[in-house]
Amino acid sequence: MNEYDSDKMSDVMGAAQGYEPTNNVEEADLILFNTCSVREKAQEKVFSDLGRIKHLKKKGVQIGVGGCVASQEGAAIIERAPYVDVVFGPQTLHRLPQLLEQRVTLGRPQVDISFPEIEKFDHLPAAKVQGGTAFVSIMEGCSKYCSYCVVPYTRGEEVSRPFEDVLVEVAGLAAQGVVEVNLLGQNVNAYRAPLSSSLGSTGQIADFATLLEYVAEIPGIERIRYTTSHPNEFTQSLIDAYDKIPQLANHLHLPVQHGSDKILMAMKRGYTALEYKSTIRKLRAIRPNLSVSSDFIVGFPGETDDDFNRMMKLVDDIGYDTSFSFIYSPRPGTPAAALEDTTPHEVKLARLQKLQATIDASVEQISASRLGTVQRVLVEGPARRTPNALFGKSECNRAVIFPGSHDLIGKMVNVHINDAPMRQLGGVVVA
Ligand code: SAH
Ligand code: SF4
Repeated sequence: MNEYDSDKMSDVMGAAQGYEPTNNVEEADLILFNTCSVREKAQEKVFSDLGRIKHLKKKGVQIGVGGCVASQEGAAIIERAPYVDVVFGPQTLHRLPQLLEQRVTLGRPQVDISFPEIEKFDHLPAAKVQGGTAFVSIMEGCSKYCSYCVVPYTRGEEVSRPFEDVLVEVAGLAAQGVVEVNLLGQNVNAYRAPLSSSLGSTGQIADFATLLEYVAEIPGIERIRYTTSHPNEFTQSLIDAYDKIPQLANHLHLPVQHGSDKILMAMKRGYTALEYKSTIRKLRAIRPNLSVSSDFIVGFPGETDDDFNRMMKLVDDIGYDTSFSFIYSPRPGTPAAALEDTTPHEVKLARLQKLQATIDASVEQISASRLGTVQRVLVEGPARRTPNALFGKSECNRAVIFPGSHDLIGKMVNVHINDAPMRQLGGVVVA
């Protein structure tokens, strides 16, 4: 999501004032930081990053801080780092050119971290297409309020983009050669919008499954991914979509966070481990090879060995593909931050390492099971470390390296897998 937002900042500044991205910070006229506040480490990083470029201010460079740290801290960023010119949130990044201009005309730093609903999308320039895959934001914000999470406070409540707007954007991308779309949102399956057609409103409400069906009808769209969905709104119609829509990738990122019902309840996730497993079981009845990944939080306040063992049991039962796991980080203003936490850090770290080792073994096993198969790969570009080779992504989102010419970039090819080092696959293109 942050990558998507960074691209939009770049698009907005490029369209408004002809700015172009540079890899050399010394030659920049404008430096923008896109920030994350989901964990404390990510948040602290922005202030150390700001400190490192502060000296460039003498050359007249403008500095902006956007994203969720900006949203959370607002004017406090200017207090701590007075050389910052503009502070903007995830929902006001489209106002960047005006904010920078006001900084100059009004002669003082500008802060705009409001949530002006979905107006952002009406002010963003058309996305620049790079290669065969593209992100498309379909909803913004989150209304789930998990007890540990800052996202609802920093990105605002769930708001869906109009149905037609999403389809028009996907069709525009497809017309420029995009073959894979990744539909983006904090909880894409909370998507709800009036179902409209070229003839006007139909009076019906489209849910996420309906949106997927319409996206799949757009000529040229060969693969559909989405990030992230929530286990609670994984409806039967969304499960059925895996039967009806062949373009839906055989990979699902469905964050479970924990495997103990006691902890899931304290996290306010709204489902039990059994309910989660039942959703995966139904999906795998339709797609036996569905690869599943997740996010996990270890060391939530009150987590006992028994709770952790329940998490490990769930991990064993599902057989996860590449996943993300972190130690719980208390976030100011969230209900969980007030909970008593008596587990020593070393215990949390040992649990995290055990969890990660188990997931790594499962990833390795999944990779080995791909040996000898043919994978449909979207070619993304030249491989970074292997000369004369290309790099692409398989349906289950695994990096695949294989020899091939550059005119395959942006296209789908079939690759026969003959090598399976842990997180990567290797092979040769076949007809
Ligand atoms: N909306 C998505 C995830 C958004 S945040 C979802 O619910 O699945 C991305 C991940 O960060 C979460 O899945 C969670 O695992 C992690 N996370 C969020 N708050 C956290 C915290 N306070 N400490 C540690 N990890 C956290
Ligand atoms: Fe955060 Fe929960 Fe919303 Fe995900 S669903 S963004 S974890 S509050």
